[in-house]
Amino acid sequence: MARAEDDTWDLANSVGATATLVAAARAAATKRPQPVVSDPFAEPLVRAVGIDLFNRVATGEFEGDDGALGIPRMTDMFGARARFFDDFFAQVTDAGIRQVVIVAAGLDSRSYRLSWPAGTTVYEIDQPEVIEFKTTTLSKIGAKPTTEHRTVGIDLRSDWPAALRAAGFDDAQPTAWLAEGVLIGFLPPQAEVRLLNNVIALSAKGSHLAADHGSVIGSSDDSQEQAQKITDALARHGFELDYAELIYPGEHTDVAAHLRDRGWHVIRYRLHDLLTAAGLPELRTADQQGPANNVGLVTAELK
Ligand code: SAM
Repeated sequence: MARAEDDTWDLANSVGATATLVAAARAAATKRPQPVVSDPFAEPLVRAVGIDLFNRVATGEFEGDDGALGIPRMTDMFGARARFFDDFFAQVTDAGIRQVVIVAAGLDSRSYRLSWPAGTTVYEIDQPEVIEFKTTTLSKIGAKPTTEHRTVGIDLRSDWPAALRAAGFDDAQPTAWLAEGVLIGFLPPQAEVRLLNNVIALSAKGSHLAADHGSVIGSSDDSQEQAQKITDALARHGFELDYAELIYPGEHTDVAAHLRDRGWHVIRYRLHDLLTAAGLPELRTADQQGPANNVGLVTAELK
């Protein structure tokens, strides 16, 4: 079903299911002999959602599958991406940042698994059902946040800054923002620009942002064909999700250029930089033409 302005979801359908898939890849990456990321909460969260295919990805049973889903490569890519953003938080908190906002947090468990300096507050924004599911599930297994953790259940296409402020966010303090896996086509292009402009308006001097951006599915015939292959492969393995329909069509925002044009200092990365930094194999030629190639990454600072 095509996206609608006010569509909602949980972790087993629509865009919510992508959060579960990414968490399953992090769980699999955590089980690797020399893991690049350690996310012990990913597997219990994925199991609690209960999609059989994603459970099998999380446990590593799908390691052998190298069909359209390309699970081993996905495990590397999402593992390297998680590691890159973990390192980003280590660097900015070392530099003194104590206010963090993770937008579109999904099943991100950094508030529970990273070691944060005393006095750090981590805010997480996502759809209410997503936030509620994660906090309840982690509480049931006895997990405790490692820092002050505040959740904001709201749609990012609506007036989220008011809700963030109501939760205690202080725009006089520098902030580290993370947008992982959302500015890649999951918001309408105008909502991306609004989100970035809100981030800019809420950012005191010394703030940082890290994100991936672009569109996982381009408009070319090749891209559409690839998306269809993913949809078909998911269905073959028992999960119905029209992958192409999740993505808003059109030109998506070049986050690095948007911030640079507004005075932020930006550094651009490509996925292969992250893989190399994590000591993982290069992208195969097929992946270089796939969704991975349409996505760039950025870290930015307002000096
Ligand atoms: N950042 C997490 C990670 O990397 O594991 C989750 C990424 S997942 C691919 C995309 C996330 O974006 C989902 O959790 C989804 O609920 C969230 N999202 C997408 N559109 C949203 C919206 N309009 N409002 C709130 N959350 C949204």
